[in-house]
Amino acid sequence: MESYDLVTIGGGLGGAALARSMALAGAKVLVLERTTEFKDRVRGEVLVPWGCEEADKLGLYEMLHESCGHELVWWAGVFNGAQVLQRDMRTATEQSYPTLTYYHPVMQDLVYESAALSGADLRRGVKATGVTLGQKPRVGYTVDGTRCEVEARMVVGADGRSSAVRNWGEFEVKHDEQRRYFAGVLMDNHPAPDDTMTSYFVPDEGLMSWIFPQGNGRVRTYVGFAFDGDIERLSGERDIERFIAAQIRSGVPKEYFETAQPAGPLATFDGTDNWVEHPYKDGLALIGDAAATGDPTWGQGMSQTLRDVRLLTEALAGDDDWESAGHRYAQLHDEGHGHVHRADCWYTDLFLDTGAEAEARRARAVPKLLEDETRLIDTPLGGPGIPADEAGRRRMFGED
Ligand SMILES: Cc1cc2nc3c(=O)[nH]c(=O)nc-3n(C[C@H](O)[C@H](O)[C@H](O)COP(=O)(O)OP(=O)(O)OC[C@H]3O[C@@H](n4cnc5c(N)ncnc54)[C@H](O)[C@@H]3O)c2cc1C
Repeated sequence: MESYDLVTIGGGLGGAALARSMALAGAKVLVLERTTEFKDRVRGEVLVPWGCEEADKLGLYEMLHESCGHELVWWAGVFNGAQVLQRDMRTATEQSYPTLTYYHPVMQDLVYESAALSGADLRRGVKATGVTLGQKPRVGYTVDGTRCEVEARMVVGADGRSSAVRNWGEFEVKHDEQRRYFAGVLMDNHPAPDDTMTSYFVPDEGLMSWIFPQGNGRVRTYVGFAFDGDIERLSGERDIERFIAAQIRSGVPKEYFETAQPAGPLATFDGTDNWVEHPYKDGLALIGDAAATGDPTWGQGMSQTLRDVRLLTEALAGDDDWESAGHRYAQLHDEGHGHVHRADCWYTDLFLDTGAEAEARRARAVPKLLEDETRLIDTPLGGPGIPADEAGRRRMFGED
């Protein structure tokens, strides 16, 4: 049987970035990736400042910035039709990273190729079918219908938001109550300002939109809506008009759609957070969306994925005992994910929940936030280093 130090199941951002960094650290690494080509799956294309810092720590930032990245300088916020925020992204965080956008499949190609250049073995069109845990964990996979098996010192599940690996490892998957849907489509010939990401909120309707320009008139656009509201899941060409209507209802200028045209699939996702506590056991670690899938409304997924990659690499590269390194990674993952998850939920409670209680919450908090925007817990831009504690929550909710 073939033997590796590390086998990653999945060669998306998480699996490929981990393969690259572990290969650079001297490990013998194999990546198993099911697809033969990366395509638009309507996935993350906005790397917030704290994610840019994580990419930099992994040595990926410059490559992304130079090869496919588009810098967004401003964040404009429109609330019930009125602009209330114009934030300079260059100085939004202490570390002064911008927000970077890119087309997800191009980013995946770059990270995947850089893993190969760093010495990892990569196999495409290969579907992992099972994992056997233990001191020498094994992965079963199929290539063209032929069953194969490989063993490793550690197996890593990096197989994304519908992870099968976490079921194979019998991890308990926790989830929040279902509150939101999130739909997105890529558009070309879009006239929105090239240097600005814009959020539009109509909180009492539980409705919001994002506009994320990628340069040259290309924009990734999203609509977020309540799962029990009057908008149904949006999917495919037939629902483009309904998607545009929802954007306009949230405050996006109608004129944008005189020229803007869809340039990719329209898809809707359940915004419910789901996650595994302590994503390591018996030679199997989980990273990225397989470890924790957040509500995409707040755009934290790729940043958390890169943080997982750094934490796991640092733990494994600095310790011969990979069993204890795996547990250390899982503990650090949980601490960071806990902060980000808590802050994301508070943003949803305050800006997107509907009903009388939510409206009372906003009536108390929003006037104070408009006077002093430092009341916002800045975890979505600044990351898990920014405490999301009870004192911060009370200040954000105007309860101090
Ligand atoms: C609508 C939407 C918008 C988002 N917006 C943002 C955003 O603005 N900013 C942000 O930071 N994040 C965003 N995210 C989240 C972000 O896309 C994810 O966090 C990130 O892509 C996770 O990377 P990953 O490598 O863990 O998973 P993936 O990118 O899903 O990669 C998993 C890989 O595993 C492969 N695979 C799966 N099963 C197998 C198998 N059995 N065998 C072999 N290979 C397998 C898949 O083919 C895939 O290539 C968004 C997500 C959604 C759904």
